[in-house]
Amino acid sequence: MTTMRRPLIAGNWKMNGLTADGTALAAGLAEKVSTDANPSYDMLVCPPFVLIGAVSGALGESGIALGAQDCHAAEKGAHTGDVSAAMLKDAGCSFVIVGHSERRTDHGETDEQVKAKAEAVLSNGMTAVVCIGETEAERDAGKTLDVVTSQVRGSLPGGATAANTVLAYEPVWAIGTGRTPTSDEVQEVHAVIRAELAKIVGDEAEGIRLLYGGSMKPTNAAELLALPDVDGGLIGGASLKVEDFMGIAACC
Ligand code: PEP
Repeated sequence: MTTMRRPLIAGNWKMNGLTADGTALAAGLAEKVSTDANPSYDMLVCPPFVLIGAVSGALGESGIALGAQDCHAAEKGAHTGDVSAAMLKDAGCSFVIVGHSERRTDHGETDEQVKAKAEAVLSNGMTAVVCIGETEAERDAGKTLDVVTSQVRGSLPGGATAANTVLAYEPVWAIGTGRTPTSDEVQEVHAVIRAELAKIVGDEAEGIRLLYGGSMKPTNAAELLALPDVDGGLIGGASLKVEDFMGIAACC
């Protein structure tokens, strides 16, 4: 990471935890972060929708940001089971993850839909965390760079700036598997993503934070976070334990 981009350590809790678990985790993180007068990172947690209210209370004045894991692209209407960006903003969120590979796979979300969701996030004054990444078959076929550049072009919201957009590179085969690309591979992909961003948003690309996600943990975080174009992490499993998540943050 470079000094011009402040690292973002983001936790994606996925579909884990009931109220007691979520509030205990949030309170535990809040306590640790509050003891650090001047943390060298921004921290974000993204609980399941139903825990957002309780987690917001537990985070208190800690400075830890609150986010959601998805939203609908429409402002309101007949979309049973969905949640709008405006509702998430109203509930206290300042970030929304869009286009996570589990949503692209489980719900067939396309780049076009991800872009529309990200634009809804921006128009409600929040920051979109736009996820991209290749499958194992795509990597084996040597298509990683083509896949991620095409996802950047297809999923990036119009009007993306360093303040309202974060990209998360998450190789699908590294999520929840304990496997990660090598540091050289991660840096190569991140540099290509930033170059692609520069073609779209010009100099603004230098300020946009690029997170790495996929089996990040305290034992590999220092190496990954030290890479020049890695500006933080999107963390699943290791974000569910205070010690692990704080251990990753300590590597910034
Ligand atoms: C994720 O789901 O975004 C993720 C990176 O998960 P994990 O850290 O468990 O691989």
